[in-house]
Amino acid sequence: MARLDSAHPENVEGPWFVDTRCIRCDVARHWAPGLIEMDSAGRSYLARQPDGPEESAALWRAAEACPSQSIGNIEIRRPPDPSFPHQLTPGVWALGHNAQSSFGAHSYLVERPNGNLMVDSPRYLRGLAELVDDLGGVGHVLLSHRDDVADADRWAERYGAQVWIHAADADAAPYATVIFESTGPTEVSPGAVAVQVPGHTEGSVVFHVDDRWLFTGDTLHWNHRRGELDVTPEQTFYSWAVLADSMDRLSELRAEWVFPGHGKWHNVGAELYAKQMARLGTDMRQTGQAGWARRPDAAFNWE
Ligand code: SF4
Repeated sequence: MARLDSAHPENVEGPWFVDTRCIRCDVARHWAPGLIEMDSAGRSYLARQPDGPEESAALWRAAEACPSQSIGNIEIRRPPDPSFPHQLTPGVWALGHNAQSSFGAHSYLVERPNGNLMVDSPRYLRGLAELVDDLGGVGHVLLSHRDDVADADRWAERYGAQVWIHAADADAAPYATVIFESTGPTEVSPGAVAVQVPGHTEGSVVFHVDDRWLFTGDTLHWNHRRGELDVTPEQTFYSWAVLADSMDRLSELRAEWVFPGHGKWHNVGAELYAKQMARLGTDMRQTGQAGWARRPDAAFNWE
C-alpha cells in the first residue's frame, strides 16, 4: 500500500499520490502517461489528477502494476474492478502486478488453443490467478532470461505448466522443465518459437508467435520518448557486440507488435519493424555502447 507519510513532494494536490519508495522502473508512466511524470532523479510523481473515468482507470492500472506499490488514493483504497488482466490486443493480455524481484518487468498472457503462454511472471496473487483461470489458465511459462522469473514457480505449480528457459540462464529457475540450448528457433507450441538473443544476458531469448507478436524480455523495446525500437546500453551485461548481432537476427523475423519486459509495448507494424530493425545492429556497432547511452532520450535505465 502506498505511504502518504512518504508522498513525493512534487505531487499535485488531490486524492491520488505517489510515494518516494518508487524504484524508477518507468512502469507507471507506461500506464498513465501525462498523469505520472518523472522527476530529475527518475522517480515518479503525480503530475495531474485524473479527469474522468478513463484517466482514473489508467491510474488504477498504474497502481496495480507498480512493483513498489507506491501509487495510492487517499479516498478509495481499492480499484472498483481489477485492472488486470488487461487486453492489449485480441489474444494478448498484460498481467500487471509487476514484481520488484524482476525490477518491475512486464509479463503477458497469450491465449493459445494448445495451452496459454505466460511470458515472464507477475507477482503471484490469488485474485489474479482466478482471473487467469477464466482465460483458460497457463500451459507454458516462458522465461525470457534470468532476471524476470519472479513467481514463475508458483504459477507453474498452480497449472502444472511447463517452464521454459535457455540453458545459459537456467540456474535462475532450477524448477524449469524445459531447458533448451539451441540458438535457432525452438518450437514451444504450434506457432510459437523461442529464439536466443544474447546480449542483455547470455541466455536471453525472445518468443515469436504467429509471425506477428514478439515478446522481447529485456532485449528490445519501443522507446516511447524517441518513437523507435531501442535497446538499453546500461543494462547490457553480457556483450554489446553480441547484442548487435542479435538485432541482426531479429531483423530476419516478421513482427507487428513488440511486447518487452522493460520499456513500452507497441504496435510497430510489420513495415516499420522491418525498416528499423534492418539498421539497428549496424547503428549499434557504429555508435558503441557508451555513445548509445548518451543519445537524447536514451532508453530508460531502470534500477
Ligand atoms: S511503477 Fe515504477 S516508476 Fe512508477 S511509481 Fe511504481 S516503482 Fe515508480
